[in-house]
Amino acid sequence: MDVVYIPMKIAVLTIFPEIFDGFISTSLMGKAVQDGLLDIQLVDIRNYTADKHFKVDDVPYGGGAGMVMTPQPVEAAIKAATEASGGGYVIHLTPQGELLTQKTLREFATMDKPLILLNGRYEGIDERIRELYVHREISIGDYVLNGGEVASMVLMEGVCRLLPNFMGNNESISDESHTAGLLEYPHYTRPAEFNGLKVPEILLSGHHENIRKWRRKMSLLRTRERRPDLFEQFSLTDEDRKLLKGLE
Ligand code: SAM
Repeated sequence: MDVVYIPMKIAVLTIFPEIFDGFISTSLMGKAVQDGLLDIQLVDIRNYTADKHFKVDDVPYGGGAGMVMTPQPVEAAIKAATEASGGGYVIHLTPQGELLTQKTLREFATMDKPLILLNGRYEGIDERIRELYVHREISIGDYVLNGGEVASMVLMEGVCRLLPNFMGNNESISDESHTAGLLEYPHYTRPAEFNGLKVPEILLSGHHENIRKWRRKMSLLRTRERRPDLFEQFSLTDEDRKLLKGLE
């Protein structure tokens, strides 16, 4: 069993800390902070600039469009965050990083060091910061955002819901899409009929074993249809093969 360190410490380095206010105080995330599962520190990179006009960016060497975040305040903020939390694993959110997956989230959720999330803006951060301080580079997808903050929220929310007791029901996590290599089965709630569409009969039967099998089959079919790449990597059990052939 993986060891999880509680509270999970996360420092977020950004020039726009206010973006996170609602995020870390609302819903399950807010509850996790209140319950002491999560210790989130927002670190304003601008507070660490040595520039008398509080600048944190400058023109790129070599010319070209946009500005680049200067290394001095970023380095100072990383050092302050590392010192305050007694070490740290620096994750730079960047479209050039490895794609974030559920497996990576699990790895981060069981990390024995505080996470330090480094958020770029403008054209990004001076390359030397990456060379000197960054342990990992993470992208949330093959597209470009204005800044790393939304990507940091994605990472934090994904990690946090893996912490023990984060959700009332830990079981609801174990079935979820991407947790065991499959997409989850479809969900229904009341009413039993909506706009002429009925809930599958089996879900109303109260027969737990049949419901389990139906859900497993739906999960397999969905994954095969929507994400053949995941389905190809998935090791089918004997029961899975039977379910797919309609023999179970
Ligand atoms: N010039 C950079 C490039 O082409 O690789 C993009 C800079 S982007 C406008 C500004 C910042 O947004 C980046 O430094 C990064 O922190 C963040 N960002 C943008 N897209 C991202 C993504 N897909 N995943 C994670 N962070 C992203």
